[in-house]
Amino acid sequence: MSDLSNSPVALVTGASRGIGRAIAAALAQKGWRIVINYQSNAEAAAEALGLVQSAGSAGIAVQANIADAAERARLLDETLEVFGRIDLLVNNAGMAPRKRMDMLQMTEASYDEVMAVNLKGPFFLTQAVARLMAAQAVDAAFPRPKVVNIGSMSAYISSTSRAEYCLSKAGIGMMTRLFADRLAEFGINVYEVRPGIIETDMTSAVHEKYDRSFADGLAPIARWGRAEEVARAVVAIASDYLPYSTGEVINVDGGIHLQRL
Ligand code: NAP
Repeated sequence: MSDLSNSPVALVTGASRGIGRAIAAALAQKGWRIVINYQSNAEAAAEALGLVQSAGSAGIAVQANIADAAERARLLDETLEVFGRIDLLVNNAGMAPRKRMDMLQMTEASYDEVMAVNLKGPFFLTQAVARLMAAQAVDAAFPRPKVVNIGSMSAYISSTSRAEYCLSKAGIGMMTRLFADRLAEFGINVYEVRPGIIETDMTSAVHEKYDRSFADGLAPIARWGRAEEVARAVVAIASDYLPYSTGEVINVDGGIHLQRL
């Protein structure tokens, strides 16, 4: 393997499967070293690491529940121990409610769990990583540090059978704006990539429902999105193609966000 010591380092949460895995692989193809965080699926994380390595890059897989403060701290310790720096944080890990329930029946336990994984964990991980990035010496060999949050069209589209998910993703929208505002003085840009309906394990249980939605004209681009298409937006950000934009939302949704008559 060539000397990768001058390659930038990306920490991608939830990178064992789905969108996170595609982001890890796409960044590795552009020469980034990758920390693959996952919660429980070690086999899937090993496969994702294999993709990074076969792209000619280096990485590590680190198990850590991002909803847990001690596990987040260990994730950062292990990252710094191996790579010594973080140039890009991709807050991708997320969960749908274990059970879709009408919001008049939804439980506090489901609300707490989804908010902890999708919003509280990413917020405090970003807080900790931002401190590290701000303290990292500016080095012309590395890009300026950045944060990308993977939000969702559920930030603004009502789904009354998963209100807790919608609330968490609306929170990600404001979290992006807050960190963009706070971190600009350190030269750290913050972005939200907002997927529409993407074919992953998360959406497998509602595949037929969304097939019908596409057939009924939900999106101008009338098909499922692919994880690789979300990853391309992250690569564009990581590659510094948006240096004068921060707090920006990039919709990757086949145009679902357009209001149409
Ligand atoms: P997915 O296929 O279900 O994969 C989820 C990934 O997150 C897995 O790698 C999983 O790890 C990890 N993860 C889950 N909870 C975690 C936790 N507490 N700590 C650490 N890692 C955790 O999901 P996806 O469809 O790729 O979604 C990725 C992101 O995109 C999520 O934030 C989701 O809300 C968002 N999104 C998805 C869609 C869509 O249509 N798929 C649309 C809009 C937004 P394990 O493998 O160990 O379980």
